[in-house]
Amino acid sequence: MRKLLVFAVAVCAAWNGAAQRVTLAREDIPRLPVDTLPTDRDEVRLVTFSDGTFRYIPTNRYIFDSAPAYTSNWDTLNLYAYRTLSLSDLPRVTDIEFSETHGFRSPAIGQVMSPYGRRNGRSHNGVDIRVEHGQPIFAAFDGVVRHSRWNSGGFGNIVIVRHPNGLETYYAHLSRRAVSAGDWVRAGQVVGYGGRTGRASAVHLHFEVRYADQSFDPERVVDFERGALRRRDFALNRDYFNINSRATEGLDGEEEPGQPLAAATSSDALPETSAVPGTPVPDPDPTPATPPPAAPEAPVHHKIVSGDTLLALAMRYGTPVAKLCEMNNITRTTTLRLGRNLRVK
Ligand SMILES: [Zn+2]
Repeated sequence: MRKLLVFAVAVCAAWNGAAQRVTLAREDIPRLPVDTLPTDRDEVRLVTFSDGTFRYIPTNRYIFDSAPAYTSNWDTLNLYAYRTLSLSDLPRVTDIEFSETHGFRSPAIGQVMSPYGRRNGRSHNGVDIRVEHGQPIFAAFDGVVRHSRWNSGGFGNIVIVRHPNGLETYYAHLSRRAVSAGDWVRAGQVVGYGGRTGRASAVHLHFEVRYADQSFDPERVVDFERGALRRRDFALNRDYFNINSRATEGLDGEEEPGQPLAAATSSDALPETSAVPGTPVPDPDPTPATPPPAAPEAPVHHKIVSGDTLLALAMRYGTPVAKLCEMNNITRTTTLRLGRNLRVK
């Protein structure tokens, strides 16, 4: 068995080496699980790996894997994952819960140098927090890293974590990233280090909170100067979203990447300097892959179960709410009867 593992490592290393033709980054070195340790929280275990790294794994991963947030629109290559949804597809109010099991730690504690909102006629889709170069930046809540890449559009090194309540947090301009797409992270786990990569004139953390790609003011939920969560239950009003979240506007030419949707696809997918896209992740990837699109002529149906909403179906099947309504001859306010078969594709 040991021989087999060594062989597998050698093959992976050779493959990586051939594909990359540069020194292996730490994140590309194959990792083998070594030990599983308890933590101070029953629902989380710590798994250590042969390369000295570690990951937190939920004890009952089934609950996390089956959360609606992780069963659709999973895109590790692009910044934005909900391209089939528009702002008008979102409900007027979304109830966001920060349960005890999601944990919390402020990504950094410090002065907000630049708040969310309009700045010189442009959109600033996050907050800028003063940090030191190399300072550890923490995951705000438990979740799974959806995207960890170099972004040529201005974010520099960016990590995006998706949380079970559907929110995503963005950590940009990092000097170094400490996690890879697919990693489970705990609130307070280091996702990277403070820096000024990308379009940043000074060292700072650019931090965003998004739901279905749409940004809102992170200060609505986090007090960065005290490092405290403002509320456990948050009614996310559609009016809070910035209509230009995914639009072209940048912010005073300094750091905001905000590319047009079409352009974002190509430039987001540019190869990173430190890793080759498609480099196989050696340990089992816990994240569900986005299912391949069904052939257009094959309709897909979904039987309504308790808790289903049009939005959840839209997110799960990648079909806009408006399209769902049109295909089933219903409206956004139609009650979804249990057992009804809705066409979803
Ligand atoms: Zn910023």
